[in-house]
Amino acid sequence: MVGSQVVDRKVDSVCPFCGVGCLITYNVRAGKIVSVDGRDGPANHGRLCVKGRFGYDYVHHEQRLTRPLIRKAGVPKDDGTAPRPQDWREVFREATWEEALELAAGKLRGLRDQYGPKSLAGFGSAKGSNEEAYLFQKLVRTGFRSNNVDHCTRLCHASSVAALLEGVGSGAVSNQVNDVENADLIIVIGSNPTANHPVAATWMKNAAKRGTKIVLADPRITDLGRHAWRVMQFKADTDVAMLNALIHAVIEEGLANETFVRERTANFEALRENVKGYSPEAMAPICGVPAQVLREVARAYATAKGAMILWGMGVSQHVHGTDNARCLIALASVAGQIGKPGSGLHPLRGQNNVQGASDAGLIPMMFPNYQRVDNAGAREWFQKFWNTPLDDRPGYTVVEIMHKALADDSDPHKIRGMYIMGENPAMSDPDLNHARHALASLEHLVVQDLFMTETAWLADVVLPASAWPEKTGTVSNTDRMVQLGKRAIDPPGDAKPDLWILQEMARRIGLDWNYEGEECGVAAIYDEMRQAMHAAIKGITWERLQRESSVTYPCLSEDDPGQPVVFTESFPTADGRVKLVPADIIPADERPDAQFPYVLITGRQLEHWHTGSMTRRAAVLDAIEPMATASMNGSDMQKLGLQPGDVVTVRSRRGEVAIHLRRDDGTPAGAVFIPFAYYEAAANLMTNPVLDPFGKIPEFKYCAVQVVPGGTP
Ligand code: SF4
Repeated sequence: MVGSQVVDRKVDSVCPFCGVGCLITYNVRAGKIVSVDGRDGPANHGRLCVKGRFGYDYVHHEQRLTRPLIRKAGVPKDDGTAPRPQDWREVFREATWEEALELAAGKLRGLRDQYGPKSLAGFGSAKGSNEEAYLFQKLVRTGFRSNNVDHCTRLCHASSVAALLEGVGSGAVSNQVNDVENADLIIVIGSNPTANHPVAATWMKNAAKRGTKIVLADPRITDLGRHAWRVMQFKADTDVAMLNALIHAVIEEGLANETFVRERTANFEALRENVKGYSPEAMAPICGVPAQVLREVARAYATAKGAMILWGMGVSQHVHGTDNARCLIALASVAGQIGKPGSGLHPLRGQNNVQGASDAGLIPMMFPNYQRVDNAGAREWFQKFWNTPLDDRPGYTVVEIMHKALADDSDPHKIRGMYIMGENPAMSDPDLNHARHALASLEHLVVQDLFMTETAWLADVVLPASAWPEKTGTVSNTDRMVQLGKRAIDPPGDAKPDLWILQEMARRIGLDWNYEGEECGVAAIYDEMRQAMHAAIKGITWERLQRESSVTYPCLSEDDPGQPVVFTESFPTADGRVKLVPADIIPADERPDAQFPYVLITGRQLEHWHTGSMTRRAAVLDAIEPMATASMNGSDMQKLGLQPGDVVTVRSRRGEVAIHLRRDDGTPAGAVFIPFAYYEAAANLMTNPVLDPFGKIPEFKYCAVQVVPGGTP
């Protein structure tokens, strides 16, 4: 029984939204999910947030795609400049799977054969399973025959991963979230965990109640500020100035952990030399945090018995995102706050499986398990493993692929065809007018999804896929836990499991795959991926996951419980040491000026997930937050003569939205915050596509806008 409802079945799975990875049970009656319970998983201990608890009914929404669709002959692709048709039937016709797959794969194969492997690209999904991510990248690498494969990690933590791989030799977290309970102090920077990782935030709040000091460092004062010991509301874009000031104070005040620095770091002298000019007193006017607070925080962090740093996209989504993360690595290292329980680095991963999709090789420069494609040894291993020649050059990243779709016809690397599985770049990419134009310009676009997303509207073929509760598979959360979800219900109509679609596409592209077994051979695919991941998940067998649901990696053997804390003895770098990389201030690409005087900060909110394709079709979540709002500080609203609820037009050099206003005094004066989940006021119409040079991540957290009263939302 669930409340007064009798259920037919209870099926164990994992929440499909954020990277916390709460374990859940679906309660099913008459083939429908009627409620969700939290399970006693290692990341959640029975807790769920509003999305996990109430965000399940999107799977039963009347707008689910149930038949393959083919664009009608002669219907042009609208790149977003014309009003969207009321009904997809004006644009698409229904087709059989045979016809749709033949067209989808046949045209991609034809483009590859006519223009070469570089003419194709694929976006996989961090919302799919590890097995789907693994098969998708394998399809692109062996079927399209290039490394033009990427996914939304490029829009999320790519710069953090670039800095971590360079500095500590591994892109994953060093300590799990609930290790904050072993810390005396935690720094939460560029992250709003009560909205974006709500159950992770409960561990932080619990720790604070027991005496752990929380330092919240963010341009916006968010809810966690209520629990913080110190709030450092630094000016957006001044992360490096603030963090170098902390490093300076630790070193100058003699608080560096000399043993750790001597035995476990490299390049310390260069770092020390670099931060000499970054005293707290010199940086205070730049970053807006008083020098005394910077010194207080530096002292408390360096002298804590255990201290963790957790960060989000406020750190990563800048042109200096990699430098921001380099500074965090350096701060932890000089203080010796890494490599033991309660001391470490944790980039809070966004999507439920962004960690796993990256591990599985859904990135253009790496095979599974972060083996570089331009490393001859790694390539040779995968060539043998997959029995096919492989491209030796990294492929293009998400935003680069959009540029290449609009390249001149004479460009041999012009992208002409794409296969997009479960991502929505027509909402999630920066500078949407450009991105939508690029997608509309493709000669052939295949989209595999649950709904007619903004991207699917631009497709030639739409393949109706399965939602997470409709399939069995594994996902890997922010804590490096590989977790199993089991199929609870069947997909609606003619919609198919993604693993089935991928294998049908592969066969028609000319690949000879043979994965046998239940649920489209998911166990066999997992086992192949496990081999491709080498030691990392060697001890996590499919059978073990059936028994245990969740196992942490690295896990070297079947009786290894997994390692919740890593780097305890050495770092997986060439010399076993952390490489300290000095960073200097690089300004945001587009700063406010007289014409565009405000800073636009984009992000997420508690109730809606990313581009909103799922949560905006979940009744409870949509009822709580039914429409887009822009948040501004009360002082700015007064200056502009605005009241909460008024409509304003927010405009950048690239696009504009008309949107209702919400007062939020946690938003700094001079800035406006807009969540990117709403297609009717798409924040990314305005964002700047300029990239961090290392992680190739766009500067979503900073561009110049004007705010003008009025407009039609
Ligand atoms: Fe799901 Fe994340 Fe909420 Fe947990 S915290 S219930 S994983 S959205």
